[in-house]
Amino acid sequence: MQGFRALPSADQFLQSRAGQALVAQHGRASVLARLRQQLEAMRKAIHAGADGHALAAQLPQRLAEALALASRSKLRPVLNLTGTVLHTNLGRAILADEAIKAATAAMGNPLALEFDLDDGTRGQRDDHLRGLLCELTGAEDATLVNNNAAAVLIALNTLGQGREAIVSRGELIEIGGAFRMPDIMARAGAQLVEVGTTNRTHFQDYENAITPQTGLILKVHTSNYRIEGFTAEVDAPRLSQLARKAGIPLLNDLGSGSLVDLSAYGMRREPTVSEAVAEGADLITFSGDKLLGGPQAGFIVGRRDLIAAINKNPLKRAVRLDKIRISALEATLRLYQDPDRLAQRLPTLRMLARTQADIHAQAARLLASMQALLTPHGFNVSLTDCESQIGSGALPVDTLPSAGFKITGQSGDAPQQLASRLRALPTPVIGHIRDGGLILDLRCLGEDQALTDALKPL
Ligand SMILES: *Cc1c(COP(=O)(O)O)cnc(C)c1O
Repeated sequence: MQGFRALPSADQFLQSRAGQALVAQHGRASVLARLRQQLEAMRKAIHAGADGHALAAQLPQRLAEALALASRSKLRPVLNLTGTVLHTNLGRAILADEAIKAATAAMGNPLALEFDLDDGTRGQRDDHLRGLLCELTGAEDATLVNNNAAAVLIALNTLGQGREAIVSRGELIEIGGAFRMPDIMARAGAQLVEVGTTNRTHFQDYENAITPQTGLILKVHTSNYRIEGFTAEVDAPRLSQLARKAGIPLLNDLGSGSLVDLSAYGMRREPTVSEAVAEGADLITFSGDKLLGGPQAGFIVGRRDLIAAINKNPLKRAVRLDKIRISALEATLRLYQDPDRLAQRLPTLRMLARTQADIHAQAARLLASMQALLTPHGFNVSLTDCESQIGSGALPVDTLPSAGFKITGQSGDAPQQLASRLRALPTPVIGHIRDGGLILDLRCLGEDQALTDALKPL
């Protein structure tokens, strides 16, 4: 009995100096909820024989820790040292400063989203980006939706509902998260007509499949895998000729869809959106937050009459973009009007274009401080070459030579243990495990200090 009396009541604690300080920081409701939990746990411990006075003395500290932990968001910024630049699980593209400023302004202010500042009449939210998209891609018209999955869905539904959609068996891909082409087609109300085989599809396969029920031909950029060896596919220019002759539209889903030629930045050439437009596809879909380097969004560019039909589709309202992202996208697309400075201003491109020598030099600068931080914990830190990935399914088999640290420890599971401790930091540091070590690839590290600052609380 004696032990229980050592504990304060909830009210007594809330009146105390320690209680008042916690209420000022976290609010009364949160403090009370955690306080009750702590008191309950302490009563159980006393019941089991623990010393009530000792527990009571620990109460302010324990409660402060529990509250700090509970108020810490799991959605907090991390350091992406995985080596994957467009990491879907880490939120894909980092926005340019210009885009962040535009988004921030849109968050805190009313803006002329659907309001024409020239004549004060109602405007269209997509109009802010239409001109820019047409200028950057050479397309006749453009519209935008929530992401590229939505772009594919609404395009298929608009062109193919109740009709047939022809697609090569080599392009019936799964993008991840249960987004499979055949399923999405079924949901869009289009009947899938598969042609060709997994590795080879010919012009005649498409030609023979065209019937009066055909609503569209779909071409999918197989962005997340590559078929090699004995293969054949029909390229977009020939498909577009066929589609034109038959009077049916060709939809080309580019996936990542870069607006610039990546070979200028040391990567393999990917078809650009303007090339896809020039090749004659009637509609082209691509993502906002993959190689383009903007916020999550899906773009559809192409023929004016088809874009108009998409905009009239009732699904459009369900997949439209909000003002924050429209603002960020506009600022991002404007950067593309100045290609000379694009790689400095667009973080995605800047990270992708970093040379191994530059990354290696950064790792060498940081080596001594990394060793000073980690050696006392029993870890061994060394410089290593590594391979970065672009990510988000873009150029899946291509890697970019990179550099960073390999961290090992005495025991076999030391890398896993360290990885878990780095994830628990206030700014979690995310690497990957390879060859018995934790690899921190520095390709996506900005300032040197960001890493040492993140590791300090270790
Ligand atoms: C990534 C991808 C999509 C989906 O794009 P999200 O913007 O992630 O919705 C669709 N098609 C292809 C070919 C892709 O690579």
